[in-house]
Amino acid sequence: MEKNCKYCRELFNPRRKNHIYCCPSCKTMASYERNQYKYVSGHYQKSENSLVEQKEKESAISIKDSKKDVVNLNSIANSALGNLAADSLSYGIKKVFAPNTIPATKEDILALQKDINQLKLLLKMKTIN
Ligand SMILES: [Zn+2]
Repeated sequence: MEKNCKYCRELFNPRRKNHIYCCPSCKTMASYERNQYKYVSGHYQKSENSLVEQKEKESAISIKDSKKDVVNLNSIANSALGNLAADSLSYGIKKVFAPNTIPATKEDILALQKDINQLKLLLKMKTIN
């Protein structure tokens, strides 16, 4: 009675009733697959997937546990960025609509010097008068 190989799905004639693979290589391959072996540069080795999966599960749990902290850190970063953006935005608006209100520009200093000179002139005139 013919059977389908459990690994390659091809029909084969099992010599025994309990044979489920058509050939020893299918049996081996199926065994590798079952045990999460992977083909790595010419040889099979035990896959670390199961270990990685376990680690991922563990880290997922720890992420879940520390999610509150992560969210807090994110919200702090977000609000900091938001403030920064708001600051630069208002700076930009000031620069466009009222450039002289921004402190410490060259124009401001020149205007201040002009004012001081005018004040000096007025004081001089006052002393003369
Ligand atoms: Zn097979």
